[in-house]
Amino acid sequence: MLYRDCIEKLLQLKDVIVTNIECQANEMHVWMRMEQRLHRCPQCGCITSKVHDYRTQIVRDVSICGYKTVLHLRKRRHVCPNCRKRFDEQIEFLPRYSQFTNRVNMQIFRQLKECRSIKSIATDNNMSPPTAAKLVNEIDYRMKRLPEVLAIDEFRGNAEGEKFQCILADPKNRRVVDILPTRKHEMIRHHLLGFNNRKDVRFVVMDMTGGYRKLMHELFPQAKIIVDKYHYVRQITYAIERIRIEEQKRLSDRWRRYFKKSKYLLLKDSDKLTTEDRIQLENLFRISPALEKAYALKQQFEYVKSSANREEAAKRLSKWIMDVQRSGLKEMIKVSLTYQNWSKEILNSFEYPYTNGYIEGCNNRIKVLKRVSFGMPRFARFRRRIMHIMLD
Ligand SMILES: [Zn+2]
Repeated sequence: MLYRDCIEKLLQLKDVIVTNIECQANEMHVWMRMEQRLHRCPQCGCITSKVHDYRTQIVRDVSICGYKTVLHLRKRRHVCPNCRKRFDEQIEFLPRYSQFTNRVNMQIFRQLKECRSIKSIATDNNMSPPTAAKLVNEIDYRMKRLPEVLAIDEFRGNAEGEKFQCILADPKNRRVVDILPTRKHEMIRHHLLGFNNRKDVRFVVMDMTGGYRKLMHELFPQAKIIVDKYHYVRQITYAIERIRIEEQKRLSDRWRRYFKKSKYLLLKDSDKLTTEDRIQLENLFRISPALEKAYALKQQFEYVKSSANREEAAKRLSKWIMDVQRSGLKEMIKVSLTYQNWSKEILNSFEYPYTNGYIEGCNNRIKVLKRVSFGMPRFARFRRRIMHIMLD
């Protein structure tokens, strides 16, 4: 009795009687049957334990001690003494018509949350990749209602003949709303018009590149649009980098190397610069006044960024834009024109705390998943998978 209890505990399967266990190569075979119980006839409701015959079913289970586990389950077929209906005994750990125990499926759902290929998960579970892929089809977290804060972004997925796909998220509650197969405005419009609570969207967070602003105004006229803070700050970083590259072109080899090395100094937070860093920057500025000017403007933007509220930010931003436009630096002027064009949305980021940080996180996972799965040949499956992975 004790022995039987131990095996049951070891297997963590309830009400089984194990009759034999054999290890063959890397597989552990377990022969078993269920304890006899009373069953209800599905046709007339009569309670019976009368057995008609037995059939052995091969069932795959989760690995035990590193062995792939194969259960040889001797299943009873009952016969109803009242209406003669024949029916299989019900087994709690085995879904109907399945060759895998419930916990294999549970394990696969857990593993599908990792950025791994379906093939590797299937192999882990002694399952064929198409069978494991079918489980992904059971996942669907499509949201029925739009969130109060809606973030929109695009990513390069190369799916279904489209380079870019569109991702919609709820950054406040950290959920993916949906992933669309294209970033075409027609498709986004059509998708969003499908929600009947569009008026509940109070904020839309985006970056300045997708060209979504007009569309979002049209769909959510009451919502405030916020430009993601990291995104607009990055524009200055890119501009400085372009100026540096332009400047080093006209220098001798030795200075060019020196310039290249200083790339990170220009981008480093100024309060983290060491004395040595500062000397190096001064040398740099001596031979490139343009870079010095650009750097000063970057510092000045730090001051804009540190504004305590919208009003302060508005004053500092317009002063910054004026100073940039007087600087004569083409690359920086381009940035200032963009900021001017987006000033309302930029200033909103000083008033409300929402960013695209969550969506950036999604995009990173997408990149990893795409790499391990060799692209996304089936967009529908990829979409479900990402939504599963991103669910906390
Ligand atoms: Zn019956």
